[in-house]
Amino acid sequence: MKVQYQLLHKDKETGARRGTITTNYGTFDTPMFMPVGTKATVKMLTPEELKDCAAGIILANTYHCWLRPGEDIIAKAGGLHKFMNYDGPILTDSGGYQVFSLAKPKDITEDGVYFKSHIDGQKLFLTPEKSIEIQNKLDSDIAMSFDECPPASASHEYMQKSIERTLRWAARGKAVHKNENQSLFGIIQGGPYEDLRKLSAIETVKMDFDGYSVGGVANDGEPKEDMYNAIRYSTPYIPEDKTRYLMGVGEPLDIIEGVILGIDLFDCVIPTRLARHGNAFTKDGKINLKNAKYKEDFTPIEDDCDCYACKNYTKAYIRHLVTSNEALGGRLLSIHNIRFLIKLTEDIRKAIEEDRLLSFKEQFKTRYEKIGKNR
Ligand SMILES: [Zn+2]
Repeated sequence: MKVQYQLLHKDKETGARRGTITTNYGTFDTPMFMPVGTKATVKMLTPEELKDCAAGIILANTYHCWLRPGEDIIAKAGGLHKFMNYDGPILTDSGGYQVFSLAKPKDITEDGVYFKSHIDGQKLFLTPEKSIEIQNKLDSDIAMSFDECPPASASHEYMQKSIERTLRWAARGKAVHKNENQSLFGIIQGGPYEDLRKLSAIETVKMDFDGYSVGGVANDGEPKEDMYNAIRYSTPYIPEDKTRYLMGVGEPLDIIEGVILGIDLFDCVIPTRLARHGNAFTKDGKINLKNAKYKEDFTPIEDDCDCYACKNYTKAYIRHLVTSNEALGGRLLSIHNIRFLIKLTEDIRKAIEEDRLLSFKEQFKTRYEKIGKNR
């Protein structure tokens, strides 16, 4: 079965969408934040812990699964769900993002992309067809088209050529997609350029994918307004009955803004990456548990958080674990940070249902930014 998006309600002021996505592995609510399981594992968390965080869907990286252990071993195990013992929905990316970060400009050809493995330097070649074949074998619920990921600084001229090639790659990938139980999403590119986003969106939608993603927005140092514009220029052309997925975005304020601009699904490594460096999200901004002021703070990270870490442990204890390089410290912070972002999407869903997303955004933003600065 292909994934089905159902629109339940639109926020009256912003048009933000409250809905559900149904897959072979269950139905989940949207907007939703998707934790990233890079190497077929969300770092340090078991599937049970992800469920306790109320994760609706997780992401696994095709590039990493392809290199290690290899898609054939995962297929022999019965696909990603069986291999990693996760019986909820899984999305795989195309591998493009990692490959483009490893490739030099001359290695990007019409056929595909040459690059060197980050593990052993071996020269490898990834094509749109190969990306889809790997994802078919991984047997995720949602596969992504292989797209070029040009830098945000790319000129209008380069970006136009790039999106035209991405459209040809999308058609090549779609032509070889053979897994009936797997949906395939198209990716809209075009950088910060309104005309190119429109062109990319219209032409990608013409190919009739099972859902659509807005790509090329999570660039380091890119002005926020460019990111918001890229979404603003893309979503109006996506049919209402299809999922809209914003790739690589997980900062709380960006999630709220993304939903306002019509996005249903987000993913980002940020909650687990922050955790490994001793940081926690709170409604008052990010805090670093390594800070000496938490040495004798025997309260949870957040009093009203329902996560396993906050229900059972204090800041002083987590600080002790983090400063002693104990793995449990990163684990507890990962659980809290993932739950924080998923709880944020729960609060957003409630605000949409009650047509008060704008006032929710103002309240959240005021507290998150203002008090956060004092930390
Ligand atoms: Zn918590």
